[in-house]
Amino acid sequence: MARIGIMGGTFDPIHYGHLVTAEEARVQFELSQVLFVPNHYPPHKDLNGVTDPEHRYRMTLLATMTNEHFAVSRIEIDRPGPSFTIETIEMLRKPYAASDLFYITGADAILQIVRGEWERSAELLALCQFIAASRPGFSLNAEDMRRSNATGRRLDNVHVMEIPALAISSTDIRRRVTQSRPIRYLVPDPVEAYVVKHRLYR
Ligand code: NAP
Repeated sequence: MARIGIMGGTFDPIHYGHLVTAEEARVQFELSQVLFVPNHYPPHKDLNGVTDPEHRYRMTLLATMTNEHFAVSRIEIDRPGPSFTIETIEMLRKPYAASDLFYITGADAILQIVRGEWERSAELLALCQFIAASRPGFSLNAEDMRRSNATGRRLDNVHVMEIPALAISSTDIRRRVTQSRPIRYLVPDPVEAYVVKHRLYR
């Protein structure tokens, strides 16, 4: 059975922290492909601060183009309204019926899910496997998850993955651009060029 990773994100913009996480998951969990899914609008953030979905989608394409195992989906970009992850996984299970799906998240996101803070969290946890990235500063272990678990599920399908620390965040990148500070080496060169060309985050 093929093993497919799904990396959801706002990707505003996508950066090397996201890419390292996806690549580490691909290798550690022997995934044949990682599908990046930029959201239309994140359910949990103030929409005023979020860049147009098409810009975020194109930057995700540019960032992933050199990795033959990475692909980008428009499934959330083309679905109106906020992007609830449960709806995405339910939709993806049809084309990938013969595959094992692994949803890749950071430490904050998996704790929100097990606390039941996402739309239909318990159902989401039942739909696929999860790879939760633990990194210095955002560390996570099975005990943290067990203590936070309000879903009534056993969490046997949630796997913790250690990744190297990259102190990069989309918030910091946007702030740097606003302050005319460099973002080179924090994002792939084509993403930097796209930000400059379209005057994003000014
Ligand atoms: P994001 O800021 O673009 O981040 C995407 C993922 O990359 C997150 O899991 C994040 O981990 C991780 N990450 C960020 N910086 C990193 C670094 N330096 N090194 C390693 N990993 C890093 O996206 P987001 O706004 O958090 O949203 C994540 C996904 O959750 C999206 O698809 C969103 O739509 C979905 N979501 C769904 C619901 C719902 O269905 N109700 C609610 C909220 C979010 P952290 O978790 O540690 O930040």
